[in-house]
Amino acid sequence: MRAYAKRFGINLRNLYVKDTNRWGYCSKEGDLVFNWELIALPKDLAQYVILHELAHLSVFNHSGKFRATLASSFSFSHIF
Ligand SMILES: [Zn+2]
Repeated sequence: MRAYAKRFGINLRNLYVKDTNRWGYCSKEGDLVFNWELIALPKDLAQYVILHELAHLSVFNHSGKFRATLASSFSFSHIF
């Protein structure tokens, strides 16, 4: 997890696993929250959710820049 954050060159502050109605989300403060049910997802999908939220720590929206950030570290961003 921290290794992923390093790959983005970002500062991962806090990581939480919660019973949330979303797969994962992040705050502007740099906290990441993931649904514990992620562990039940196929590995690729869980990894996608994690990378998606990590990418938000450097680009806090779904702009082209965000997609580029995500694509640079992940090969199947086209499903997004
Ligand atoms: Zn998002």
